[in-house]
Amino acid sequence: MATIFTKIAAGEIPSYKVAESDDFYAFLDINPLVEGHTLVIPRHTEADYIFDLDSETYLGLMEFAGKVAGAIKAAIPCKRVGVAVLGMEVPHTHIHLVPMSSEGDLNFSNPKKELSAEQFKDIAGRIAEAFNNL
Ligand code: AMP
Repeated sequence: MATIFTKIAAGEIPSYKVAESDDFYAFLDINPLVEGHTLVIPRHTEADYIFDLDSETYLGLMEFAGKVAGAIKAAIPCKRVGVAVLGMEVPHTHIHLVPMSSEGDLNFSNPKKELSAEQFKDIAGRIAEAFNNL
């Protein structure tokens, strides 16, 4: 059965896209810890757990996420782009990329930012532009 993230990558459910390739898709987390909080997913997998991915998909996902992190760093003021894998809610492998100014920014118990559609669009557009200029 297709997961919500498979449907997002297929464009069947809307998202704020920041980057894509034939095999991977990156979009803004709808409940962000900070502005620019991004999720990166493989398009073609049923694997819920990242370490169950076949090695080609796993390595490709990490490489793609690294590029997206570079775009986030270029577009969003931050010290580092933090990387986390939780998977407590959505059973489709995804990597969280979180622009961090301090260690506390990567605490998933923090209250989430409430952003307008315009703000999401603006942030996604800035990261997408940086990605295209990598
Ligand atoms: P977890 O599975 O624990 O990594 O959490 C799933 C993450 O996906 C949470 O941070 C949610 O805010 C995010 N999320 C769930 N549904 C959507 C969606 N439709 N668009 C963007 N982000 C989502």
